Amino acid sequence: MATTISEQVVRVQERIAAAARRAGRDPADVLLVAVTKTHGVDAIQAAYEAGLRHFGENRVEEAESKINSAKSILPDLVTWHMIGHIQSRKAAGVSSLFSWVHSVDRLKVAGKLNESASVLGRDIDVLIEVNLSGEASKEGYALFQWPDNPTQADSLLQDIEAIAALPALRIRGLMAMPPFSPDPELSRPVFRRLRALRDFLHDRFPTLDCQQLSIGMSGDFEVAIEEGSTIVRLGTVLFGGRKVD
Ligand SMILES: *Cc1c(COP(=O)(O)O)cnc(C)c1O
Repeated sequence: MATTISEQVVRVQERIAAAARRAGRDPADVLLVAVTKTHGVDAIQAAYEAGLRHFGENRVEEAESKINSAKSILPDLVTWHMIGHIQSRKAAGVSSLFSWVHSVDRLKVAGKLNESASVLGRDIDVLIEVNLSGEASKEGYALFQWPDNPTQADSLLQDIEAIAALPALRIRGLMAMPPFSPDPELSRPVFRRLRALRDFLHDRFPTLDCQQLSIGMSGDFEVAIEEGSTIVRLGTVLFGGRKVD
């Protein structure tokens, strides 16, 4: 018999807690964001009934109707996280739908998010996406030689200063995606470098509350938690495989 979403939520929460304890961390310090892209409102509702309140989507068009239906069905407030690449012209849609944005990868997009959020009177928590692995296909600030080549962080540092001055955005930390691999251990060095980058930024900008690390997907979230993840973004392990992606 197929396992239900609520059974999967319990299992995943156990795996999160076990990974946190292995690293001497409090499981409560790891936020589970359920990634519902390609899945319907029924999946959101099942995860909600299993206790989840944070959900992630990667496309504005797909998210809009789901977020609106979820609002009308679910009694408690849920928090929506934008985890996909943002085209500048879609920034206003992102600001109206999402409380968190994990994928700020250039100043222009941050500026557009700030403008539209300001008009709506909203604040958005943002994470800066960085590309530590040198894969050309990946979005994010290119830091694949960091820290060996420290000047690679220069444009990131400049943009963080500019983004920190935008009144409707709060920089909360970093997001990264290691190259896909069936072996989660291959993600570990990338996660370690992201944590080192977080600590470096904290030294440079001690007044910013930017300690969050959004790392860990279905294939590698336990390793990510061992390496300091504070937000895991999980789809497949909760909802099963996706037909399209
Ligand atoms: C789809 C997606 C996830 C979830 O991936 P799974 O491997 O299904 O857990 C996480 N982060 C981002 C940015 C995604 O696009």
